[in-house]
Amino acid sequence: MPKSQKGVALLKEIGKVNENARELLEKELPDIAKDIDEENRIPSSFIQKLRDAGVFDPRDIRELLEMVRISSRSSPAVGHLILINGTAKLLLNKNLKKSIIAVSITEPGGGSDVKANLTTKAVNVGEKTYINGTKFFTSNALYADHFLVLAVTDKGPTLFLVRKSENVVVEPMDLTAMRGAGISVVHYNNAPVEMVVGEEGTGLRNALLSINIGRLGYSVIALGIAEGLLLETIKYAKKRIIFGRPLTEHQGPRWMIAELYSKIELLRSYISDIVKDDKNIDPLKASIAKVEGARLAQRAAWVAVQLKGGRGLEKGSLTERLSRDARALDIGEGAREVLLDFIGHKVSKIF
Ligand SMILES: Cc1cc2nc3c(=O)[nH]c(=O)nc-3n(C[C@H](O)[C@H](O)[C@H](O)COP(=O)(O)OP(=O)(O)OC[C@H]3O[C@@H](n4cnc5c(N)ncnc54)[C@H](O)[C@@H]3O)c2cc1C
Repeated sequence: MPKSQKGVALLKEIGKVNENARELLEKELPDIAKDIDEENRIPSSFIQKLRDAGVFDPRDIRELLEMVRISSRSSPAVGHLILINGTAKLLLNKNLKKSIIAVSITEPGGGSDVKANLTTKAVNVGEKTYINGTKFFTSNALYADHFLVLAVTDKGPTLFLVRKSENVVVEPMDLTAMRGAGISVVHYNNAPVEMVVGEEGTGLRNALLSINIGRLGYSVIALGIAEGLLLETIKYAKKRIIFGRPLTEHQGPRWMIAELYSKIELLRSYISDIVKDDKNIDPLKASIAKVEGARLAQRAAWVAVQLKGGRGLEKGSLTERLSRDARALDIGEGAREVLLDFIGHKVSKIF
C-alpha cells in the first residue's frame, strides 16, 4: 500500500464502492479540487468520468454514502453533487441511469418554512402540466438532466419531475461554500412536467423523505471533511519541527489529534449503525448525526488552522476550502436550530 493511503486505510468503510469510482474520487479528485472551488464548476470531462464510473447510480445507500465521504475529504462540493442526486434517485425509484437530478424546493421567500412561502405553481393545460416559478439554492442545477420540483396544485404542494429544456433557466449562485456543487437560482418558465412524484398534495411528505437521507448524507460530508482535515493536519504536523521536535511529539497537539480521531470514529460508527437497515432511516438519528457532524467538521477546521499556525490561513489551501464548506453544514438540509427543535421535541415525547 502506498504510504499516502495508509492513513485512509485506518478509516473503516461505511459501504463498498466500485473500484473505478474509488480511483476517481480518491486519486483524481484531490488534484482538481482546488480548481473546482476556484471556478465554482466541475469540469464536464470529470462529470462524464463520474457518470461512466456509475457514481450517479449507487447500488445502495451505503455505497452512496461512502462515495460522498471519500469525495468530501478533498471536495465536499462533489460529495454534495453525488448526495443530492442519490437522495433524489432513491425517492424516484425510476430508471434514470447515468442522469443527474437536481432538487428544487427552497424559494426566495425562505427555506426553513417551506410551506408558508411556496409560490411556484403547477397548472394543467389540456393533458399536460406546466411549472412556473423561481427556486433558490437548487443544488446540482448546473449539471442536471432532470429537476425534482416542489410546486402547488389545487390539492396542495406536490413533487414533479421536469426535464432540462429551454424552459428551465439556470443561474449559478456565487456562494463561499460548496463551490462547484452547481447550486443555482432556477427559473421554470412554463416548464413541461414529465412525471408526478407520488400522489398530488403529498409533496411535502415526499420531500421530507428525501431530506431525511439528505440529513444523514450531510453528516457523512461532515465526516469526510473532518477526515480530510485530520489527515492534512497530521501530515503537516509530523514535518513541522518546533522547539527541536516534530509538532506531533508535543503533548498539546497530540491531544487535539486524539480528540478529532476519537470523534471521527464515534460518528462513523453511529452512521454505520443508522444505515444497517437502509430501508428505514431513523429521522431522529439522522438529525443527531447532522448536528453533531457539523460541529465535528467545524472543530476539525479550528484544530487544522491552530496546528498549522499561519500556514493554516493560506487562501485556497485544503484547510481553507474545507473550513468554508464545514460552515455550510449548519444551514443546508435544515438549519441547526430547526433540527435541534425537532430533536428536543421527539426526545421530550419519548421520555
Ligand atoms: C449548501 C446548501 C445547499 C442547499 N441545497 C438545496 C437544494 O438542493 N435544494 C433546495 O431546495 N434547497 C437547498 N438549500 C436551501 C436550504 O434548504 C435552506 O438554506 C435551509 O432550509 C434554510 O433556509 P434559509 O436559508 O431560507 O434560512 P431561513 O429559513 O431564513 O432561516 C435563517 C435562520 O433562522 C433560524 N431559524 C429558522 N427556523 C427556526 C426555528 N424554527 N427556530 C429557531 N431558529 C430558526 C436559523 O438559525 C436559520 O439558520 C441549500 C442550502 C445550502 C446552504
